[in-house]
Amino acid sequence: MKHYDVAIIGSGPSGASTAFYLAKKGISTVIIEKETLPRYKTCGGGFVFRGRNNLPFDITDVVEKEFHTVDIYLGKDLHFKTHREDPTISMIMRDSFDNLITEKAKEFGATLLENHKLKGLSFNDDIITLETSQGNFTANFVIAADGALSPTAKMAGWKEDTRKLIPALEYEVEISSEDFERLSKEVRFDIDAIPYGYAWSFPKKNHLSIGVASARRTKINLKKFYQEYMETLGITNVINESQHGFQIPVSPRTDGFVKNNVFLIGDAAGFADPITAEGISNAIYSGKLAAEAIIESNKNSELAEKLYLDKIGETLLPELNTGLWLSKWFYEQKTIRNLLLKKFGQRFSEAMADVFHGKRSYPKDIKATIKQKIKNLVS
Ligand SMILES: Cc1cc2nc3c(=O)[nH]c(=O)nc-3n(C[C@H](O)[C@H](O)[C@H](O)COP(=O)(O)OP(=O)(O)OC[C@H]3O[C@@H](n4cnc5c(N)ncnc54)[C@H](O)[C@@H]3O)c2cc1C
Repeated sequence: MKHYDVAIIGSGPSGASTAFYLAKKGISTVIIEKETLPRYKTCGGGFVFRGRNNLPFDITDVVEKEFHTVDIYLGKDLHFKTHREDPTISMIMRDSFDNLITEKAKEFGATLLENHKLKGLSFNDDIITLETSQGNFTANFVIAADGALSPTAKMAGWKEDTRKLIPALEYEVEISSEDFERLSKEVRFDIDAIPYGYAWSFPKKNHLSIGVASARRTKINLKKFYQEYMETLGITNVINESQHGFQIPVSPRTDGFVKNNVFLIGDAAGFADPITAEGISNAIYSGKLAAEAIIESNKNSELAEKLYLDKIGETLLPELNTGLWLSKWFYEQKTIRNLLLKKFGQRFSEAMADVFHGKRSYPKDIKATIKQKIKNLVS
């Protein structure tokens, strides 16, 4: 049976980047992927600058468009614009983007096993046996990078109800050249285009990725809000559209991130941003931290676990936990939020642009700041 130091389940941005960093240090690494690459992944494909800036290689070849200006709309009356010298959002299609990172990992010696679905895990001392649709393998470490549903986490003993998964619906839409000419110049977010959530229009090279997401986990007719949003955008002539629904985990798991040498990263860990549902940059970042932990521990499992937990506890988890609070307030307290946005909307948009650029995180004292602003507003 073939043995690897590290087996990574999933070749999304989290898994592929972990493989890149591990393989670069000569650690024997296999990526086990159920699909054949390049594969479509349901995603808006908006890659924020902090993620792009942290990648150790150039991705220009797979960038479809770059946006230095971002437009945020709140209903018909409020509109905020931010502009930065670096591209705030780079538009990518996930098939070629994920494949690029995987290819970079392969260049350093990582093995990719496509069309291999993980079906079971068994644990014996420090060795983990992985049962896949095409045979068994062993590894010292397993990285669960298998996305929002993470079958690996289930197999390794994580509970299902320890995360918050929000519903999202996304369409790849081809429209008339006149409409595309008009809409392809702007990346836009429309807050409240859907209850407790937002809609987006992300222009790609030849089409738009348009979607809606609700921050509340309720039964909601996403398709209806998508159709209404198409009207808001003034799109009447759709040449072609494909619908893709999925879930985004916007809160970190509450029952740990490492068990029996299985490490959770990216969506499997619940690391998407609670306010924006932007998950690619944290997927890559958490993958890097898991790789660093294994490298720095010299493949010692106890130390690797400690290092990974320390690393995510330093910046990632505090930011996500503040984001969780902020998101609940932002989407649930609509009336007071909109009053505040009327007054401070531009400042809020600039702060979000700074978060996208990695220039700041969500302020730790956000609760007090908001309370003070509300007090000022009503007094
Ligand atoms: C509608 C929608 C829009 C979004 N828009 C954006 C956006 O614009 N910007 C942004 O930053 N984020 C966005 N996100 C979130 C983003 O897509 C995720 O956060 C990101 O893909 C997480 O990366 P990952 O590597 O953790 O997992 P994934 O990208 O989900 O990769 C998981 C991989 O694991 C493989 N896999 C799963 N099960 C198995 C198995 N049993 N065996 C082997 N392989 C397996 C899958 O095939 C897949 O390749 C969006 C999400 C949705 C649903």
